[in-house]
Parts: sequence; C-alpha cells; structure tokens
Amino acid sequence: MTEILLKNADLILTMDESRQELSKADILVRDGQIARIGQGLETQGEVHDVSGCLVTPGLVNTHHHLYQTLTRAVPGGQDALLFGWLQTLYPIWSRFGPEEMFTSAQIGLAELALSGCTLSSDHLYLYPNGARLEDTIAAASELGMRFHPTRGAMSIGESDGGLPPDHLVEKEAAILDDMVRVVDAFHDQSEGSMCRVGLAPCSPFSVSRDLMRDAALLARDKGVMLHTHLAENDEDIAYSQAQFGCRPGQYAEELGWTGPDVWHAHCVKLDGAEIDLFSRSETGVAHCPCSNCRLGSGIAPVRAMRDVGVKVGLGADGSASNDNGNLMLEARQAMLLQRVANGADAMSAREALEIATRGGADVLGRPDCGRLMPGKRADIAVWDTCGIESAGSWDPAALLLAGPMSVKHLFVEGRQIVRDGHITTIDLPRVIERQNTLARALQA
Ligand SMILES: [Zn+2]
Repeated sequence: MTEILLKNADLILTMDESRQELSKADILVRDGQIARIGQGLETQGEVHDVSGCLVTPGLVNTHHHLYQTLTRAVPGGQDALLFGWLQTLYPIWSRFGPEEMFTSAQIGLAELALSGCTLSSDHLYLYPNGARLEDTIAAASELGMRFHPTRGAMSIGESDGGLPPDHLVEKEAAILDDMVRVVDAFHDQSEGSMCRVGLAPCSPFSVSRDLMRDAALLARDKGVMLHTHLAENDEDIAYSQAQFGCRPGQYAEELGWTGPDVWHAHCVKLDGAEIDLFSRSETGVAHCPCSNCRLGSGIAPVRAMRDVGVKVGLGADGSASNDNGNLMLEARQAMLLQRVANGADAMSAREALEIATRGGADVLGRPDCGRLMPGKRADIAVWDTCGIESAGSWDPAALLLAGPMSVKHLFVEGRQIVRDGHITTIDLPRVIERQNTLARALQA
C-alpha cells in the first residue's frame, strides 16, 4: 500500500456533486485513488505541504493532434483558413515517421501536464513511413499521463475528390484491421485505466460513409468510444450539404455517430435541432476555443449546449492550429468567448474550470476522473496562489480570472509528474532539443 498526503491546502475545489470548496483541508491518496478529504488527516507515507495553494482536479483534454507540435507556426499555414491550412501542412506531415510521432507527442503531453492536465485524448489520423498509434502511447506512458489515444484515419485522397494527398490516405480494409489490432493490444477498460483506445475517422470529408458506419459498428462491438471532427466552420456545413444533402448532425445520426460513447470536436456550427439531438443522445462535444479563434471558425454555442445538458469538455486541438498547448488558456478562452457572444454573465470562471475538469472527464466516459472525491482517481493539480498572478485576488478560486496558468505540482494516479513546475518523469530539455532537431530536418 502506498499513501501520499497533500496537507494544508488553502482551498480545494472538489468539483464533486455539490461543487464543494473546502478551506484548509488535506487530501489522502492511497494506491492511486483518493482515500479521504478533510482536516487533520495523517499518513505514514509521503507528505506534501500545499499551504498557499489552491487544489483542483487535473484538467482533461478531449481533443488534440499531438504530432502537430512539430509543425507550430509554419509560415504558409499561419493565416490560412481550415482547408487551405490543411493543404499547406499535408506535404510536411507526409515526411513524419515513428520518431516524429513519439517526440512530438512527448512535447505536447508535457506541455499539457505543465498546465495542469492529467488526462488527454489524442487524434492521430495519419500513419506515414511506419508510424503507429503505439508511438504516442509509449510517449504518454513514459511521461505518466493518463491517455486516450484514438485510431484516426483518412481514406479519400485527392484523386477521389478528397482533401489529403493520395499517399497520406489508407485503404479502408487496412484501417479497420489496424483499429482491431490497437484496441486488442492497448485498450484497458478497467477502473483507473491509464490507456483507453478510441476509433476516430478524421472527418466526414476525408473518409467514406462506409468507413464511418463500419467504425461505429466496430466500436460498439469492442466497447470503445468514437471521435471525429464535426461542424467546424461554414465550409464544413456547405460540404456536408453539397455531398450528403444534409447537415452534419443528421449525417452523424444516420451513421451511428451519436450516443454517450461518441464525442465530436468543434461543433462550432451546430444549430438548435443538432444541439437538441446531442442532448437527447448524450453525445459529447470537445470545445476548442483557441483553435476556433486561430482558424477564424466562429464561436461554438457552448452556453446553449450546456443549458440543455450537452456534455462539453475542452480541447487544445493540434498545435498547428493553436499553436499553444496550455489547457488553462483554453479554459479562460472558453469563458471569454461565451461572454463575447452572450454577455458578461454568460459563463463564470468556476463554470469554465468545471468544463475543463469534470466536464471533460464525462465527455471521455471517465466518471472516475475529473473530481476530487473519495474513491475517484488521484489526478490532482496544485496551483501556487502566492505568486504575482494571484497577488491582490479577493477570490483565488476564480483561478481563470486571476491566477497562475501553470501548475506547481501535478499528480496522475497518485504519482507526481510535475514538482515545483518541472516535469519529473522525462528529461524535458533533452526532448525539446530532439524536437527542434527534427523540426529543422523537416524544414531542410
Ligand atoms: Zn482537430
């Protein structure tokens, strides 16, 4: 039995059922789970003094393309719209291989961890030069991040009227075979799982209707989740109406892509009927506010979604469309965008933090994460509220209005992966150097 005790937190935002906020309290962790929360707790194990700190559940990232950390701020893609942006980047991504996938995943996940993230999904939809999903799983496992990789795919290349170049797409039979392989090899459904695999054809404009339907059938057969991009911008809606004669929500519903085991990225352009469909069917949304701003896609109707009970989590989205991987900045941006659209009372700092924690955990089917309660997983972010960002704050719990954007300590399954603002599990300076070497080679 291993215990650790976080002692004397100034404040704990539990994100439990009644959203309790506990002053001067302790958290006792036993074997990766939260054992007790309260005052005057004791242990024979390791003790961390967290006085002067705010403690929250670890943040949850519901949408990312980790490989893209190798193509941040690429000049030809800096100011392009979505489809033009993709066409700039596809030729660069086609030169990636296993090492690019591993290193860029490690950079992306470490950056997320420093912003308080303990659980991240990833959407890897291209597999050039021998790259495989397990390249990213190895990166997460070395770092100690809880990870939900998804086996993405593209099958419609340029010669079939699609967007990606032909050499970046795969045959649909091979895609389905590899989906079975990675689920059988890496998916762990157990309580406290550190790795769950999902199935994720890239988007309705890069795979066929058949693959969308077959992936949904396979996911139900295997008991894994489904993920894709949906209704990202106006071009996306126009494409759906021209190609399929319907809106994205209807397309998704017809092919089995709604339900509690499905979450869609972006959903910027969902209309009222589609929002109702997502609410009824318990379909989740990965809201990516910085990416939506960066690509000029629009403001997702998150207020309307939340008001009718749609599950919403946050996503950093790929670094090539953000280009930042700080999940706290996403939470702040989510709050600000709803205020731009609906007024200053449209979303509180506490609600945005709730979306970033338990909201994301619910989207990913992880009610064992995203809240600090006895019996839940010990995924815990510790924020130093003695620094300049909090100085003068009357309400440290309003972390997204005034507070640090990076963590002091971070625990995943009770294991400390950030200590005093530094990653403990990997040699980050060495990984950064490797990443920059790989980026320079791609530019040559
Ligand atoms: Zn994306």
